[in-house]
Amino acid sequence: MDALSKTPGRDPSRRSACVVGAGLAGLALAIRLQAAGLATTLIEARDAPGGCLRRWQRQGFTFEEGPSLLADPAPLRELWSVTGEDLGNAMALAEVTPACRFNWSDGAQLDLGVSEAELARQIARLAPDDLAGFEELRRWCQTARIDGWQRLGESALDSPAAALRALPALVRSQGWRSAWSLVGSMVKDRHLREALAFPVLQAGASPFAASALHLLGQALPGASCGWWPIGGMAALAEALTARFEQLGGTVRLGDPVVRLHAVGNRISEAECQSGWRGHFDAVVSAADAMHTYRDLLKDLPRGPQVAGKLAGRRYSPSAFSVHFALEGTWPGIPHHSVLLGTRYGELIADLFDHGVLPQDFMLSLHHPSVSDPSMAPPGKSTFRATIPVAHLGKLPIDWVTVAPLIQQRVLAEVGRRLIPDIHDRVVTSFTTSPRDLVLELNYHLGSAWSLEASALQSGPLRVAHKDSKLANFYLVGAATHPGAGVAAVLAGAKAAASQMLKELT
Ligand SMILES: Cc1cc2nc3c(=O)[nH]c(=O)nc-3n(C[C@H](O)[C@H](O)[C@H](O)COP(=O)(O)OP(=O)(O)OC[C@H]3O[C@@H](n4cnc5c(N)ncnc54)[C@H](O)[C@@H]3O)c2cc1C
Repeated sequence: MDALSKTPGRDPSRRSACVVGAGLAGLALAIRLQAAGLATTLIEARDAPGGCLRRWQRQGFTFEEGPSLLADPAPLRELWSVTGEDLGNAMALAEVTPACRFNWSDGAQLDLGVSEAELARQIARLAPDDLAGFEELRRWCQTARIDGWQRLGESALDSPAAALRALPALVRSQGWRSAWSLVGSMVKDRHLREALAFPVLQAGASPFAASALHLLGQALPGASCGWWPIGGMAALAEALTARFEQLGGTVRLGDPVVRLHAVGNRISEAECQSGWRGHFDAVVSAADAMHTYRDLLKDLPRGPQVAGKLAGRRYSPSAFSVHFALEGTWPGIPHHSVLLGTRYGELIADLFDHGVLPQDFMLSLHHPSVSDPSMAPPGKSTFRATIPVAHLGKLPIDWVTVAPLIQQRVLAEVGRRLIPDIHDRVVTSFTTSPRDLVLELNYHLGSAWSLEASALQSGPLRVAHKDSKLANFYLVGAATHPGAGVAAVLAGAKAAASQMLKELT
């Protein structure tokens, strides 16, 4: 057996599939294919699975990048049940409440992901005139989640006919409206609007351009908590990988795919950096779509052809994070907070359109050690402060030079708003920038959420789950329908798996 392959070889009598990239999308798809009987090999460039759920362990602290919480564990439970097991047997998910605290520079505060009574009390205090509108939005979320988000998200919308079939659900759930327009039609207070539209930004989209359905992929306003996998999001990726291997799947870590070879219009082989090559009946790329076409398929006419088209699309912003460990504990700072200032629309335009590095931030503060003691040594805390920044195509700055400056400004903002003596308490800190997303994950322009989720880049206008010219080549992940974010890539993997299994088994 090859040293890099962690499980024994495949039964040659079975159909085989290769999945490139062990992020959440690749893991979910690989599990579904393997569970359905396809001999599946998952190849990952990095030494660990999880993709953008990256983990660093330093001085007893565990730092992570990527989502702060699971808004809804149901898609993961469903995925696990496909393997004949219960997710609860594999890992512990802690309920986190509040799921998110919004804190504005004018002193306003709102906790979402709390009990119904607590939420009503807070809205009555913050925006009493919006109580009825908030209830209306909640009702919309409940209906549109099933009829709009789930139905459309889990279907392959890659043909005009499929899109036409989806149209009634889209109209019924008001998916044609922008998130901001829908929220704004129901609630008027600016704080409440900004908090309720935040899920769209978490999926890398602008609330002004993205469909209202993108409000539904994250925590719903009525949810009473968020969910945290004990050990961190990377532990979740490890548990998924272990389950895939228990099903008989093969995992190949630390060996990037460098080329996909074709015979006629079929991808026949994946070639890795180590020189290892594997033959497969079907190949799926769960890696960045531009990287896939530009680099992995560069020897085929289809590669540069699609890469050229992708280069002309709009990409979502990138992210800059300051990871820091502090002496002391802060039980009053919740697991996830969002610190907002006075500018909102202008700040979003700076990020998505103008590509400037603003003086003010929209800052997401992740504090996992408050709900999971395994993330920091006793008496100490782990934090991550993330700000969205324009991608490298719009803001081509040298992040190695700029990072220390922004790091100081981000820490100063957290100090000013929440932890006054922060600078005396820092045990260790480091940053991750758009540049790392390019170098470590092959993200085009360092865009953290890939193709922007706008009306012109959604549904059938996103990258299709199946390439239209290469007969056995598929794609999943953030660039494909329904888009980026944990719930979206899991839904997309489900749609792609059902399409592949129809065609291959
Ligand atoms: C900083 C940040 C914050 C985020 N915050 C949130 C949030 O709060 N809520 C939310 O829902 N979503 C959030 N997201 C988005 C969400 O996490 C992603 O959309 C989702 O996890 C992407 O999963 P994926 O599997 O499509 O891609 P990835 O996680 O990028 O996985 C792709 C994998 O492919 C591998 N790969 C690349 N090239 C090759 C190659 N040549 N050979 C082999 N392997 C290769 C990569 O190493 C990687 O492991 C965030 C993303 C980032 C970056």
